[in-house]
Amino acid sequence: MFRFVVEEIPESGVEFSGELDAAWAAPYLGPQFSLAQDSITLFVKLSRAGASVAVVGHWEGKMTAVCSRCAEPFPYEFRQQFSHLFVKESSKPKVPKDIKEPEELDVTFFTGPVIDVEPLVGEELAIAFPAIPRCSDDCRGLCQRCGKNWNEGPCNCAPDVVDFRWEALKHIKIQGEQDANP
Ligand SMILES: [Zn+2]
Ligand SMILES: [Zn+2]
Repeated sequence: MFRFVVEEIPESGVEFSGELDAAWAAPYLGPQFSLAQDSITLFVKLSRAGASVAVVGHWEGKMTAVCSRCAEPFPYEFRQQFSHLFVKESSKPKVPKDIKEPEELDVTFFTGPVIDVEPLVGEELAIAFPAIPRCSDDCRGLCQRCGKNWNEGPCNCAPDVVDFRWEALKHIKIQGEQDANP
């Protein structure tokens, strides 16, 4: 689906879009993401200058992510842009006319008559998603002792279970405090 015969790509460019299904994308995603119900839509514009091909596009979609703190699934929407220049090995790179910012292009070398965009999209996918997704910036996480989801309220565990985030704050001295309490 993402393989193109270089000579057939018009210099003026050609656009295409396609759906990446869950099975294709799964190996590129960490276990914290799933695409069980969803798919990723990919939009790409290919343009050519001699033996160099610019591949510029973006993908967007919705996934289900698992929060790294509370372990609850939550919807995750994304849109990611990318721009690559495929350069035939041992040829001089050329930038197609429609590319406004050539310095933004990542260069990939290829051999043979065909370019394969798929590995590139897979690599971009793998780095596009956070390693530790969170359902919200202030997710409280789970109690380490009883497993209660603190977003739903406090648990009944003894108070000696300290939250390291608050523990760090104890060592911060607030300016002016000593003046108020001599
Ligand atoms: Zn969470
Ligand atoms: Zn607890």
